[in-house]
Amino acid sequence: MQNNRYQKSAELLARSKKVLAGGVASEFRKYNHPHAIFYSGGKGSRITDVDGNEYLDFTLSQGPLILGHSHPHVLESVRAYSEEGQLYAGQHIREIELAEKLNKHIPSAELMRFCLDGSEAVQTAFRIARAKTGKSKFLRFEGHYHGWLDNVAWGISTPSEEALGSREAPQVFPWSQGISAGTRDEFVILPWNDLELVRQTVAQHHHELAAIITEPIMCNNGCIVPNEGFLQGLRDICTEYGIALIFDEVITGFRMHLGGAQTYFGITPDLAIFAKAFASGYPISAIVGKKDWMHLVEEAKVIHAGTMNSGNPTVAAAFATIEVLEQDQPHERMFRLGKKIMAGFEKIAAETGQNLIVQGPGPMFNIAFADAPANDYRGTLRYDKAKLGRFVAALHDAGVRIIGRGLCYISAAHTDEDADAFLKAAETILSRGL
Ligand code: PLP
Repeated sequence: MQNNRYQKSAELLARSKKVLAGGVASEFRKYNHPHAIFYSGGKGSRITDVDGNEYLDFTLSQGPLILGHSHPHVLESVRAYSEEGQLYAGQHIREIELAEKLNKHIPSAELMRFCLDGSEAVQTAFRIARAKTGKSKFLRFEGHYHGWLDNVAWGISTPSEEALGSREAPQVFPWSQGISAGTRDEFVILPWNDLELVRQTVAQHHHELAAIITEPIMCNNGCIVPNEGFLQGLRDICTEYGIALIFDEVITGFRMHLGGAQTYFGITPDLAIFAKAFASGYPISAIVGKKDWMHLVEEAKVIHAGTMNSGNPTVAAAFATIEVLEQDQPHERMFRLGKKIMAGFEKIAAETGQNLIVQGPGPMFNIAFADAPANDYRGTLRYDKAKLGRFVAALHDAGVRIIGRGLCYISAAHTDEDADAFLKAAETILSRGL
């Protein structure tokens, strides 16, 4: 039977469920094929599970592993710097060096603070925006993911496109039970990529808006790039009304460019959040911003804290990751490889008559089955999720691992041979039909 392939994982999952709620440490890890999988190691572009199956990994741990698994320079830096000490409840020199690197590469990073993950850095950005403007709400977009905390755990799951109602005044649904109902009052929500709608809404609500937050590329649903002029339009609106423009660069940061999507698109936000690809899998994020906004943290008018912030291993991992990105300059190759795979998919789709759609800038891209590409979250609700699920499962059985919702990440460790192997597996599956 095919699923014997995952026998040891199945046994470990049964054991895990007795002590870890649902058997996992993060909800998303449940939804692997055919169930949560237990891994034993990763090297370069490959990851191995406890049953000895090896996968070409385009998941990259949901984005962080921009250098691939177990990059030697990162491991050595973490080892060496951790041996000196682990956490001081005080400052150490590498933190400054790391901040200087971000300051050099990221246009909006005039001042910054380090945190542990994207979710808490997003909340820090909101706090700064509220303090500076004296207003309380943020404008956000349907289908954008900004972490799992209450005030952003809305607008990312929905029963149907119809249930969302009008574009001007969308309905939103909480992602989970237990979310504070009061957090619904913290935001105004709109479909993405519709500048006119943003303009009209801000004109109406600016007296209560502290910020507009957006993923510069809608990576979490469809990997949709912004319409021409959309980000510049947001920039202009925020400047006009004195509202913070927050770029959530948790995925795009370091991935689109060492200086983030803000450098790639040439649009500088007031505040931005970097995480994921920052430190090759070690827990660190950054809330960065223009002095005009960050001075509130400097002056302790906005409080930001955290016992575990800037520990030696995480700072060493981040510093080493950026060093490698600076020295090896893999971005051009990541774009080329991503675009090569995307073009290969389009060819295979045409040849096999499958309604496969591939969208994204290259270093990350999304695979979907639909009649037309989406331009916002509502469009992605027309995607055939069941068919995608069968495709992702078949790829997994063939030794290629991608994220369940169709997102694929390219790392500096992926090669042309990896790209060809991905396409070959996809061609075999799509030719035989789903
Ligand atoms: N923002 C974006 C765009 C994300 O993709 C994520 C996580 O996937 C987050 C914020 C939350 O980051 P974390 O999972 O590190 O808390």
